Amino acid sequence: MRYVSTRGDAPVLGFGDVLLEGLAADGGLYVPRELPAISASDMRDFAGLEYHEVATRVLAPFVAPSLSVDDLAPLAEDSYSTFAHPDVVPLSALAGGEQLVELFWGPTLSFKDVALQLLGRLFEHELARRGSFMTVVGATSGDTGSAAIEACRGRAGIELVMLHPAGRVTEIQRRQMTTVDSPNIHNVAIDGTFDDCQDLVKALFADRPFRERMRLGAVNSINWARVAAQTVYYVTTAVRLGAPERAVSFCVPTGNFGNVLAGDVARRMGLPIDRLVVATNHNDILARTHRTGEMAISEVRPSTSPAMDIQVSSNFERLLFELGGRHGHALAADMARFRTEDSLSLAPEVLAGLRAGFDASSATEDEVSATIAALNEADHRLIDPHTAVALTVARRDAPAGGWATPIAVMSTAHPAKFGEAVREATGRQPELPPALAALASREEHLTALPNDLATLRDFVTGAASQ
Ligand SMILES: *Cc1c(COP(=O)(O)O)cnc(C)c1O
Repeated sequence: MRYVSTRGDAPVLGFGDVLLEGLAADGGLYVPRELPAISASDMRDFAGLEYHEVATRVLAPFVAPSLSVDDLAPLAEDSYSTFAHPDVVPLSALAGGEQLVELFWGPTLSFKDVALQLLGRLFEHELARRGSFMTVVGATSGDTGSAAIEACRGRAGIELVMLHPAGRVTEIQRRQMTTVDSPNIHNVAIDGTFDDCQDLVKALFADRPFRERMRLGAVNSINWARVAAQTVYYVTTAVRLGAPERAVSFCVPTGNFGNVLAGDVARRMGLPIDRLVVATNHNDILARTHRTGEMAISEVRPSTSPAMDIQVSSNFERLLFELGGRHGHALAADMARFRTEDSLSLAPEVLAGLRAGFDASSATEDEVSATIAALNEADHRLIDPHTAVALTVARRDAPAGGWATPIAVMSTAHPAKFGEAVREATGRQPELPPALAALASREEHLTALPNDLATLRDFVTGAASQ
């Protein structure tokens, strides 16, 4: 398997390089030159397999020849043994007829664990094979930080520096990061906003000599390995709901377009997916783009689903590349224009392709709260606000007479992670699972730093030399 950049100017690479590089040298995102196929007989086989076995079968062509099936299988088995449910990603039926796809049984209780548990092990494996090391630097507004820390803690060859905006993540989110006591994990609280944290990380990566000396690496959702790992639960869900005989539709709460892009990849590989429904909160650039054909940035407004408080959905570039006929240079010019003008008109054939494969709309904060309350009434169960964004859209936008296929709604976080919004909607406080309850009494490890690049550079240098 070879990978090409969406902007057409970076070297064509194999999986191991794509894994460690993250972003392509031309600023684009890596995608496979050709996708492997999933056949009907594969799907029939998968029905009898465990999650980690399906993961190995689905992912083997993506990682070859860097990793063999025999290399991959134990990494997948180990990754998904950290999940607290025997099905890893279980389904549950709602009274309204939808299926909830429960993506929150990993160690940090958000869907980020599904990809990052595997990514941490893939990093460690590839670094050992090369006798190399890397310094992962990231910025988080909440969920990614803890999932990356859990994925990388104690792993040979990796130092992880994770920035969060001081005082601007929830106490649970902070404690999930800072109570991890591992010499290769370095939490930094920046005196600034999440955007300040992201700007600092970008500035570190832009410093080429520093980047190369430190072997800087990224865990953000533009890493192809994360997208690939996320295709697996589309496969296991579709198979459980009747594939290959019967098609399935998915409604996905979206910020960076990483989760739903994995659904599109699975569909291109042959999985019978009918509709992919993109659900956003009031930060609705994707829904507006789908409606108007104009991708236009506006202000980010905070919401109760903060993991989706995003205006630039980085993985959307991969879909634009596919829909535009895989013309890297043309897309590079479009993305340059988007950066300077904060707006881009989609070509008619791109917009037509988007509408042919996807629906998209947004949910207001009032709708999210009402959906959480309604589910508490009807099903006696609590869902988190990100899941509620998707369930709102799946219910409100169902075609007259209902969805033509079973509709699976991605449930991306445990309700206890966003307990305040859930309590405000229902009057019920979600119970903390034991893993979270124990955090309150553990010691925190973090370094407070000013919003200053030179200071951060010194800190990263110190962390990397341990
Ligand atoms: C990250 C995240 C999302 C958004 O996922 P994308 O891949 O960025 O679209 C949704 N819900 C939760 C809980 C998340 O942590």
